[in-house]
Amino acid sequence: MTQTCTTCPYCGVGCGVLATPDKVKGDANHPANYGRLCSKGSALNETVGLEGRLLAPRVNGADTTWDTALGLVADKFKAAVDEFGPDSVAFYVSGQLLTEDYYVANKLIKGYIGSANIDTNSRLCMASSVAGHKRAFGTDTVPGCYEDLEQADLVVLVGSNLAWCHPVIFQRLLAAKAARPQMRVVVIDPRRTATCDIADLHLPVTSDGDSAIFNGLLAHLVDAGCVDQAYVDAHVDGFDAAVSAARASDPVQADVSADDLATFYDMFAKTEKVVTVYSQGVNQSEAGTDKVNAIINCHLATGRIGRPGMGPFSVTGQPNAMGGREVGGLANMLACHLDIENEAHRDAVQQAWDSPTMCTHAGLKAVDLFRACEEGKIKALWVMSTNPAVSLPDATRVSEAIKKVPFTVVSDILERTDTGDLAHVLLPATGWGEKSGTVTNSERVISRQRKFLPVPGTARPDWDIIADVGRRMGYSGFDYASEAAVFREYAALSALGKTFARDFDISGLAQLSDAAYDDLQPIQWPVPTDGNTGGRFFAEGGFYHAGGKAKMLPITPPAPKSYDGLTLNTGRIRDQWHTMTRTGRSARLAAHLAEPFVEIHPEDALANGLHDADLAQLTTDQGQAIVRVLITSNARRGAVFVPMHWTAQTAAAGRVNPLVAAVTDPFSGQPASKDTPVALKRA
Ligand code: SF4
Repeated sequence: MTQTCTTCPYCGVGCGVLATPDKVKGDANHPANYGRLCSKGSALNETVGLEGRLLAPRVNGADTTWDTALGLVADKFKAAVDEFGPDSVAFYVSGQLLTEDYYVANKLIKGYIGSANIDTNSRLCMASSVAGHKRAFGTDTVPGCYEDLEQADLVVLVGSNLAWCHPVIFQRLLAAKAARPQMRVVVIDPRRTATCDIADLHLPVTSDGDSAIFNGLLAHLVDAGCVDQAYVDAHVDGFDAAVSAARASDPVQADVSADDLATFYDMFAKTEKVVTVYSQGVNQSEAGTDKVNAIINCHLATGRIGRPGMGPFSVTGQPNAMGGREVGGLANMLACHLDIENEAHRDAVQQAWDSPTMCTHAGLKAVDLFRACEEGKIKALWVMSTNPAVSLPDATRVSEAIKKVPFTVVSDILERTDTGDLAHVLLPATGWGEKSGTVTNSERVISRQRKFLPVPGTARPDWDIIADVGRRMGYSGFDYASEAAVFREYAALSALGKTFARDFDISGLAQLSDAAYDDLQPIQWPVPTDGNTGGRFFAEGGFYHAGGKAKMLPITPPAPKSYDGLTLNTGRIRDQWHTMTRTGRSARLAAHLAEPFVEIHPEDALANGLHDADLAQLTTDQGQAIVRVLITSNARRGAVFVPMHWTAQTAAAGRVNPLVAAVTDPFSGQPASKDTPVALKRA
């Protein structure tokens, strides 16, 4: 049977997959994975069954026609906008959407409805990296590529369990370390994770201690004479203030051994080729943006950025979190990395779209968006391809907030999800293998997802559903013949990148024929019309702040928290994805860790009267859960870890996100999911 070249729908590594309905294997020609797949990717064919699929639109629980359902959606959204204004409606979308879906949703709400109330579950994933990039570089640029990890002599992994959460990058790192044993790996993480198996050094930091560590590193780099003064003079502002702030903070508050810290600082100082990889342990924090900038400061000061084997590197969680950032899927961004606050940018996008209006200010970020639902400010809500009633912090409160919205639409592939159960209208979307489009991975490579499965029932691609609603609302900009037509419009819009001297420009793809779009091979952006495609950023400066310089930021680490009790850290496990709607179907994947658990240090277990395999009740100010006890010295004392995948559909008592406090980073709006105070006792 003919194999279809497509892209894995799970994490931001973005691996190429060769798929038939019965079998998947890694695509040896894809630059992300060169044939590798992880456990989740290699089980994809076990997860494409039709059990539980939503096959027809539903209104108030009854199957109906697309005409009836979409007519109702258009009428309700239009009525809300007419009566209460554009900001009375909201979209909550997903890093699982394809770029074409994301683009049309963003265009409809920002350019036609006239509100920026569109946020995405990517807010939970990497919004702090976006904010940190914008503060340092003037735009949201990932400077390097995966090869840098293989070429580095020192790889520092901060708040990243790469082995479980980005497994194929980990496999590449493992192979590179085997080939060059002199390569060093340092892991900075409260937990001793599977990633530590290849670490030369593990720093079991407190949950918010990263900034203190990197401030201390910056001071050490200055004292050790490692500053690249020529690079700083030519390309960086804010050096002195950043160093002063670094000297004013104390790495002791990170609570790691002084000897280990000195070893790390010495390694970093003496190694030119350093990549610092960071992920949710950095981003999901009240001080996440500051952590990102504390890391970037060290690379800017040493000029170790944008050259082979060097640079800060944010790895994204979702398959198309990057695509969402590029189309403006976050409430505080415009398409193509343009700025909502910039009137010239707004005018140019509106002109290109020939749209009747344009949002004038940033919209509500995820946590605030659902608070607005709770307060009765949102009259019509459309949730696409995500499950906020499970995945957001303080999730029970989010469920209650959704119930207060007079009209809620959910587009999903499943008939039952925790969020779908709250909706007035359910719209059946096509899923992986049933639809076509593009995604962008963590190293800026745009890849095609391609259809190779029949469409179940009357399901439709998200971009097509959204465009139909746009037309029914009376708007003229939504007559797309195909996803290729959407992509061409988006690529043409990105020529504004050149107009406004921004980083994101894929206008070289704007003339693709349908056949060329279908054949599109993985390609790293930028893709301008002059053919200088891809590559690294910033080796020779060229930043996007006015004046072309980067900014080092003065970072003041948060004061250490002193809880009497334990704190709750949440995250992923190796073989499940998000709320398990797909991976939960594979018995092989479920066999890895079959039920929700709490990982706890032996001394904390003793102090709380817990034994291995007990059931423990966890209680926070937000809620309760009951999960299995797993005692391990891999846990940091004082901090317990619970995975976040289980739902009301799969293990109601083990849902952990209802326990997490909905506190956010002040710059990024990203929720902190790593240190909610929690009490434990035997259930
Ligand atoms: Fe899919 Fe990520 Fe695994 Fe690659 S590493 S196969 S993208 S889940």
